[in-house]
Amino acid sequence: MSRPVLARIAPGAFRHNYLLARQRSGGARAWVVVKADAYGHGMQACVAAVRDVADGYALLEHEAAVALREAGVTQPVLRLEGAFSGAETQAAAQLGLTLVVHSPAQVAMIEQSALGAPLDVYFKINTGMNRLGFAPAEAAAALARLRSSGKLGRITLATHFATADVEAGIDAQLDCFRRVATQLDPAGQLPRSLANSAALLRFPAAHADWVRPGIMLYGGSPMPGLQSAQALGLRPVMTLTSRLIGVQQVQAGERVGYGGTFTAPQAMRIGVVACGYADGYPRHAGTGTPVMVDGQRSRTLGRVSMDMLAVDLTDLPDAGVDTPVTLWGEGMDADEVATAAGTISYELFCALAPRVPREVV
Ligand SMILES: *Cc1c(COP(=O)(O)O)cnc(C)c1O
Repeated sequence: MSRPVLARIAPGAFRHNYLLARQRSGGARAWVVVKADAYGHGMQACVAAVRDVADGYALLEHEAAVALREAGVTQPVLRLEGAFSGAETQAAAQLGLTLVVHSPAQVAMIEQSALGAPLDVYFKINTGMNRLGFAPAEAAAALARLRSSGKLGRITLATHFATADVEAGIDAQLDCFRRVATQLDPAGQLPRSLANSAALLRFPAAHADWVRPGIMLYGGSPMPGLQSAQALGLRPVMTLTSRLIGVQQVQAGERVGYGGTFTAPQAMRIGVVACGYADGYPRHAGTGTPVMVDGQRSRTLGRVSMDMLAVDLTDLPDAGVDTPVTLWGEGMDADEVATAAGTISYELFCALAPRVPREVV
């Protein structure tokens, strides 16, 4: 038998989640956001699952965009940070990719490259997140420069929200976007794109022409503090499982794991799971992080090590070596695990280590 840790990827769940995203988007078209190898799930399997229904794919990496075209994908492909060089800009025009343009340097790349075909762009406006995009006061001049290059195809106006997933919401950024968009495009002829998963689900006013759902497609709640993935009707796509490879009987007062951070309050049985931070399980997950052992909820004990973690078998008298464990996914909400570890499901999924075998089911 090989080491038992395994990530199962469920393309059917991915498809379900995409169709749900579309259904919740009014009439807007929906990018399938597959950056970072589909949030760690494997881009190919996810793309294959929605190939006949996807409106387009959004990602970061030039190589991944090229791979989609080489695989025969004909839908729009959007690079969310745009190009990093003139060569990438040129390749984008030739491959029919859509580039975000967020900086004067990217405007210059377009001006200075011989493109050979019109380039579709997402003109990005910084409406308050202060990450990427043109400031409202700079936007008109930048767009005019782009237009006068004569190299553009379709132009879409875009922004990104900082707090769509929390109480604060999007009002200030939405107002800012509308103001700038009206100035740039008074007749309202250009398509617009604003919403990530959280805005798609919470704020229909932000749906516009294209939505950009990411995490919800993978079955993570974009706002675990407000609503669980299950309550939203989402299905987990990645299920990380392993098995017990050891059992210890400890006495009251004995400690468990590195640093001895867990002390047994009474005699108890402890299971050792073949899964650690070198597999992508978060080391910050302290004692009490939920885990499914033999289909029953239990908790982790002590520190996560590189290759193993310990679980409480107090209420699992029949559990022993080979007992199956689900770290997250089907039966164990990844958002709960992430919250216990002080992070978000996005990070759990993206951190899945290359050494973990994946099985597309
Ligand atoms: C990653 C990303 C998204 C998707 O965000 P989710 O929170 O995963 O839905 C949307 N837009 C941009 C610009 C992104 O970078």
